[in-house]
Amino acid sequence: MDTLIQSLDFIDNRTPEQAMACDFKVTEETNTGKNRKLYIESYGCQMNYSDSEIVSSIMAEDGFDTTSKIEEADVIFLNTCSIREKAEKTVRDRLKQIKQYKKKNRDLQVGILGCMAERLKKSLLEEEKIVDLVVGPDAYRDLPNLINQVDEGQKAVNVILSREETYADINPVRLNSNGISAFVSIMRGCDNMCSFCVVPFTRGRERSRDAHSVIREAQSLIDAGYKEVTLLGQNVDSYKWTSEDGTEFVNFAKLLEMVAKLDKNLRVRFSTSHPKDITDEVLHTMKKYDNICKYIHLPVQSGNNRILELMNRTYTREWYMNRVNAIREILGEECGISSDMIAGFCSETEEEHLDTLTMMDFVQYDYSYMFFYSERPGTLAARKLEDDVPLEIKKRRLAEIIEKQRETSLNRNKLDIGKVHKVLVEGFSKKSDSELMGRNDQNKVVVFPKKNFQPGQYVNVFVNDCSVGTLFGEAID
Ligand code: SAM
Ligand code: SF4
Repeated sequence: MDTLIQSLDFIDNRTPEQAMACDFKVTEETNTGKNRKLYIESYGCQMNYSDSEIVSSIMAEDGFDTTSKIEEADVIFLNTCSIREKAEKTVRDRLKQIKQYKKKNRDLQVGILGCMAERLKKSLLEEEKIVDLVVGPDAYRDLPNLINQVDEGQKAVNVILSREETYADINPVRLNSNGISAFVSIMRGCDNMCSFCVVPFTRGRERSRDAHSVIREAQSLIDAGYKEVTLLGQNVDSYKWTSEDGTEFVNFAKLLEMVAKLDKNLRVRFSTSHPKDITDEVLHTMKKYDNICKYIHLPVQSGNNRILELMNRTYTREWYMNRVNAIREILGEECGISSDMIAGFCSETEEEHLDTLTMMDFVQYDYSYMFFYSERPGTLAARKLEDDVPLEIKKRRLAEIIEKQRETSLNRNKLDIGKVHKVLVEGFSKKSDSELMGRNDQNKVVVFPKKNFQPGQYVNVFVNDCSVGTLFGEAID
């Protein structure tokens, strides 16, 4: 899920402007004594963070350690996002800052990876003089060869999209890892053509990864002490893999079950579920295994049927509500549900915007990632529809959506008070080293006094208070 990967408690204190800003993650040190140093900044979605781990692994084979200090790098990669105009502008501004390092070190190589590389291709080299390499998301195996070309004084580009590449055999180098939770990509690309979205153009056709390679990766994470995996794909419910001899077929429900069965102490999460594809079979599988977290990210985008059709989401408001009812019937009221929302899509009227707000009332989302519409060149909407909702109106509607979400999040969190939650501890709370923070099953942040508990432990916490983005409590064991 693109969503920038904002931390999920952002609604506590983020303004609409902050909610639209882009976060990034930086590589950690892997000092293993290799010759050259690679520094990666990853922008955008979890998928990109996961890809940067694959890139680090490929580069490690080619003699690169990773560094967290940009000034020490021999190669700088920006793994980029194109989902909104703002995301691309952030990268362009960052390139301006990176110029100073190139001035100091003429051998420094600068590469643009990911969606912006794929969208803009060779023109990036012309527009951004300091860029040496442009590499699309399906071309990372070619990086050693492209780095060689730059070593020899040329510029290098590979933006070929593939119908098969899943990097299944590459064991990612874990970056920014707390050693507790990790992402595992189970598929790449997207075959849906939501009219606002650039992903099908930048990440290519949907393809599912060999189920056994997913299981191997999850098992190696368990062996390394990880306690939580999140299975990633743009549309996980359409995961499907058939063995070459045709004897094995694995859909998403089955894959989820296979991962859950590896170890009952491993928490299993997944993202993103597309409302048109999420099946009762998946919901029943979630119910069957205690270690599959009861939390579903089910982006609605809009609550209005005409807008959903213009967005080419291929479901209606009624269909979406039916899926939410199925979640409530099978998994109960406690199951966390979150969403993505776009305010001010082409021709959206005030009444149609209100339909999004009433949908939020109906579902009672635990939280949401909220954006205003940003036209992306080449998409169906850019070609066929007019981006005619004025910016101030988009922003005002977005602010209303955010305000509604704050109310709903607070209401949902209040329902958690007086209950015991099983929390997987991730680290210290932002405010104090005497408090720990972790997440409950529904992915909500829980903060409680440390006592003798440690990151990586499961702790039963009695929740006695909450804010919009956090539950507070006391450990009871
Ligand atoms: N595959 C996921 C799905 O279908 O829900 C979403 C992936 S997309 C990378 C993440 C979110 O970015 C979308 O759900 C949507 O809300 C938002 N988004 C995508 N294109 C956008 C655009 N042009 N303007 C504003 N928000 C956009
Ligand atoms: Fe984009 Fe739609 Fe695919 Fe999600 S499902 S990545 S929003 S095209």
